[in-house]
Amino acid sequence: MKARLKAAKGTHDLFPADAEKFAAVETVARRVFGSFGYGEIRTPTFESTELFARSVGETTDIVHKEMYTFPDRKGRSLTLRPENTAGVVRALVEKGIQEMPRPLRLWYTGSQFRYEQPQAGRYREFRQIGVELLGVPGPVGDAEVLGMLFAFLHALGFTDAVATINCIPRGPARAAFSKALQDHVRPHAARLGAEDLKRLEENPLRLFDSKDPEARPILEGAPKTLDFLDEASRAHHEALKELLVQGGVRFRESAAIVRGIDYYTLTVFEVASERLGAQNALLGGGRYDELVGELGGPPTPAVGFAIGEDRLVEAMTGDVREPRSLVFVIPDGPDEFVYALGVSNEIRGLLPEAIVESDYSGRGIGKGLGRAGQIARDPALHPFRVGAVHAVLLGSREREGDTVTMKDLTSGTQETFPRRELPERLAGRER
Ligand code: AMP
Repeated sequence: MKARLKAAKGTHDLFPADAEKFAAVETVARRVFGSFGYGEIRTPTFESTELFARSVGETTDIVHKEMYTFPDRKGRSLTLRPENTAGVVRALVEKGIQEMPRPLRLWYTGSQFRYEQPQAGRYREFRQIGVELLGVPGPVGDAEVLGMLFAFLHALGFTDAVATINCIPRGPARAAFSKALQDHVRPHAARLGAEDLKRLEENPLRLFDSKDPEARPILEGAPKTLDFLDEASRAHHEALKELLVQGGVRFRESAAIVRGIDYYTLTVFEVASERLGAQNALLGGGRYDELVGELGGPPTPAVGFAIGEDRLVEAMTGDVREPRSLVFVIPDGPDEFVYALGVSNEIRGLLPEAIVESDYSGRGIGKGLGRAGQIARDPALHPFRVGAVHAVLLGSREREGDTVTMKDLTSGTQETFPRRELPERLAGRER
């Protein structure tokens, strides 16, 4: 036998039992975000490397050491997207955002790629579900996005979610904050590693992303972002808090949340889940009023978030899939296959929401019923969320008489009736 190949480090396969959960979460996303007027956008999985350097930021961990970057055959530098906001903004600017009616309301789902050290909940290919609202400058935009986020989380059973929010100074206030942070950290510079020293000089805000335990205590007494806000930023932040209280979005404030991406201005937020292990960050987001301009578009205020879909599914305890009734069609042997194909399709037509599975093993009705019975007893064996389970038994008697025998595997009752009676017999058995 030839050697078997393994999935690349940090990637994983989703088999139907898991993939159906992801699909169900995406269905809820489509329903909830759609009810706020957000439409789905799908952008390419790879982009020019320059896009991420200009948006996420040269000195962030993501750009600096986590990107999958490669030259294509013509020597262009391409990168597998490490996040999706940059791609969405690039797409809008390319299509002519200045002509589009505002606000723009978009959501996406898809794989993202980061060369990180894999561990539970941290992958090199992972999926995100995200939202972008462009063209609403005031705190009401942040409040819409956070309110919608919480509606989504509640629909998935995360009723105890709490957002941690912060406000990052902009313009001259941001420069003053960076300077104060440098002044605070410099006397302790001898304790910092090379990477944090670079951050200290080039982009002090990124010190908060440091994973070095030595850096933590130094940052604990650091200046607070909220003390550096200019008048307008402070008003924005205070108004947002008021709107969140009114909207029933639970939150707390933390000066330590700065997010590992440079494009954020003003509002930033995260939600963690206690149901996850060490990697407990479920999602992150914030306002990025300068990004559209940075990428060549007209000044456009914007706010959004990205949820780690793998972590979201892992932390979910309830089942958001709709129950579907399962009908096993079991021909006794190969002579009944053609009859079974016809009957199966007829049932699919009558019960569009049901799962109609045919047994083509030719092992006889008894064996086929065994598998159906197993699933009736333990519906979790099936990748879908199975409601009622029925078996349709087709032997030579049924084929010759154009009848079907239907067994309800929950009650155990069984009846034989003419095939033409299927519509009335199946009525109301969708679930
Ligand atoms: P970020 O784009 O870094 O703001 O991340 C947003 C969310 O994506 C995080 O809160 C995580 O839930 C998820 N995430 C980020 N990196 C990874 C990863 N390597 N593996 C799995 N999920 C991730």
